[in-house]
Amino acid sequence: MVNRTKRPTRRQVIGLLGISGVALAQNTTGPIIRTVLGDVPPESLSGGATLFHEHMSLSPDFLPKFMSLLTSRPQPAAIAPQPGETYFLQDLDLMTEELRAASKEGVACLVDGGHPDMGRSLDFLKRLSMRSGMPIVSGAGYYSEPFYPPEIATLSEDQIAQSLIREVGASPYGALGEIGTWDEFTANERKVFRAVAKTHLATNLPIFTHTNFGKAALEQLDTFESLGVNPRHVAIGHVGGLIDPEVRVHKEICKRGAFVGFDRQGGPGDARQIPMVMALIEAGYADNLLFASDFSNAAQLKRNGGPGYAKTVTVFVPKLREAGAGEETLHRILVDNPRRFLAFVPKQKRSPKRV
Ligand SMILES: [Zn+2]
Repeated sequence: MVNRTKRPTRRQVIGLLGISGVALAQNTTGPIIRTVLGDVPPESLSGGATLFHEHMSLSPDFLPKFMSLLTSRPQPAAIAPQPGETYFLQDLDLMTEELRAASKEGVACLVDGGHPDMGRSLDFLKRLSMRSGMPIVSGAGYYSEPFYPPEIATLSEDQIAQSLIREVGASPYGALGEIGTWDEFTANERKVFRAVAKTHLATNLPIFTHTNFGKAALEQLDTFESLGVNPRHVAIGHVGGLIDPEVRVHKEICKRGAFVGFDRQGGPGDARQIPMVMALIEAGYADNLLFASDFSNAAQLKRNGGPGYAKTVTVFVPKLREAGAGEETLHRILVDNPRRFLAFVPKQKRSPKRV
């Protein structure tokens, strides 16, 4: 553990994480998973599913902007707060209850894919993790062209990398993600992807991406590989949205050693993705699969009668079981793969002082 200002004491953190059976890493020579409350050994998260791409903190205007950019797609209900209502992703009491419920339903850890250009608050995630007892891993980086802060256009690739390296060295970020291409892979997005690759090489932090329903998936991986990133530290996201019964792009990603993200699960889209997941399992790629739900819609909350943050486990996985996926395979995908993906040996020097 390193000392960071305004952080809870080690005793407080151990007490809170103890609720879910998590121990802080005692030494940092081996691989760790970096949660917002400190580094933990990967084996401490073996008691349940780790969902590698969710959202627990966003600004109220993120989803309306996101949906307006996808004009050809139907707008889900309840994407923005009603007048006078606290937005659910800023409501600590509500979110604490939702994550406690997810924990009871078999979720051991949640990864948040937001960053400042999406209105994500790291402080909110820390308080939520402390209150709920749910280990949370927070991503860092930039989302995609329509959401970039203006300076991305003028900074060089190396300047962006240096700024990211400083940022992830100063705060407990456990991944670089979600790093996105909105539609066509733009020049600015290429610059950000290359900067993220360099940040990974300097820190060993794993990377997970956003694609527009699988578009540019292989180009994303090409970009990382061209700079020397080992694909086993990369998860290409939202490729469940690339509907292809032959799963050609998905297999290519797996063959190169990266993870494929089926990360909008637990809803009506599952039906088209079950055969694709089964095809990948049958082709021997179970170890390359990662599941999550990309949670961001208030209608899906338990409080609103929805399945909540565990919906990948409680809604999607039973459908896979019915389609013939075995328990051992499902355990590998839900419990082992995300821990292998998130675990890294930190490269950056940190203060030896303990909290
Ligand atoms: Zn997302």
